[in-house]
Amino acid sequence: MSHALIMVPASGLLGDGKKAIKIHHLVKAPENTPHSISRRESWNADKPAIVYKTPENLPDGKPCMAATVILRTKGCVWWWKSGCTFCGYFNDVRDDVTSANLFAQWEEAKRQTNDFDGCEMVKVYTSGTFFEDQEIPVDFQESVLVETFERKIHLVVEAQAQLCYPEKIAWLAKKHPGCTIALGLEAYDDTVLRFHVNKGFSTKQWHKAVDLLRQHHLRVKTYLIFKPPFMSEGDALRHTTKWVMQVAPLSDEVSINPMNIQRSTIVDRLFRNREFRPPWLWSLVEMIEQTHSEISQLDCRTIVHPTAGGRIRGAHNCGSCDEDIVAAIERYSVSGSLEEFSGIDCSCKKVWSAEIFNDNNLPVSLGSGLDRRSTGTDTVRAP
Ligand code: SF4
Ligand SMILES: [Zn+2]
Repeated sequence: MSHALIMVPASGLLGDGKKAIKIHHLVKAPENTPHSISRRESWNADKPAIVYKTPENLPDGKPCMAATVILRTKGCVWWWKSGCTFCGYFNDVRDDVTSANLFAQWEEAKRQTNDFDGCEMVKVYTSGTFFEDQEIPVDFQESVLVETFERKIHLVVEAQAQLCYPEKIAWLAKKHPGCTIALGLEAYDDTVLRFHVNKGFSTKQWHKAVDLLRQHHLRVKTYLIFKPPFMSEGDALRHTTKWVMQVAPLSDEVSINPMNIQRSTIVDRLFRNREFRPPWLWSLVEMIEQTHSEISQLDCRTIVHPTAGGRIRGAHNCGSCDEDIVAAIERYSVSGSLEEFSGIDCSCKKVWSAEIFNDNNLPVSLGSGLDRRSTGTDTVRAP
């Protein structure tokens, strides 16, 4: 009997001798089912994914109105190769979008905003890198850069750090001097970038990109994620607080995005398996309070925008205090004043504080927290 067992090839956790599969292959494969592909291809390639106006601040701090245009593109080259663990942008892309489609989307965005009426800023988001030629045809890149510059509209575009090539950045700075490049750094830590985020670039590449953008007098906006997967709440608070202070001196703007669960991502799998919960709103307040005095000395704006804040798939608390805290965080991003949080309290703050204490003092690497809004019985049930 024991001999028979020895003959059986090792399997399960030990593997079966085959080449290891990366986690994103396991997770993404079901998302490439005919159903998922046909959903993506059902989008109208002549219509942008979404267009909206919000109040913003110009580089000199003057309040303005900004139009955000999220284009339907071919999607990020990094996602097609591998992809960040939290990114669900691919749900909005079509892989056959042409230059003519993008020009039609741009016209549609102008129609929806009455030709950017009253907007001194336009953010053009492409679910990837605006100036990556495989993602966005060069004629479209050029047209947007030149048109917004001639109309004196401040332009914000997104990019991956490793795609900031010297020739391309020089070209960009010539077509639209002084525009803002938003780099999704997510974490100022190479281990977290590699194993928690699967970002596809390192902090060294981010530094190189920042230096290059500065040389060309372009503005740098840095995105950080609060609570990447495989991390406890206590660690998320400690790390992100440190990252904010490390990247702010090198950025014109830092935008901290609390993790929200986007459909069909690795984080979504973990969330549905009860192995990940989005951050507490209290953690965001704590991070803001800890970084405020140092950041306010710098010429860098800090924005915290809890997407889906107060909802179960976004940063949330107990359910009764969420609305007030989300509103206070949003106000802080505009006013930069800690006064926004005065008088805000709730009994759930004690639960949050115990979770942070436990995460920092017990050997529970993925955290001690439980679902915040379910009953005790639901919590112990199998997912
Ligand atoms: S680089 Fe950006 S668009 Fe690409 S997979 Fe990562 S988060 Fe998504
Ligand atoms: Zn509460």
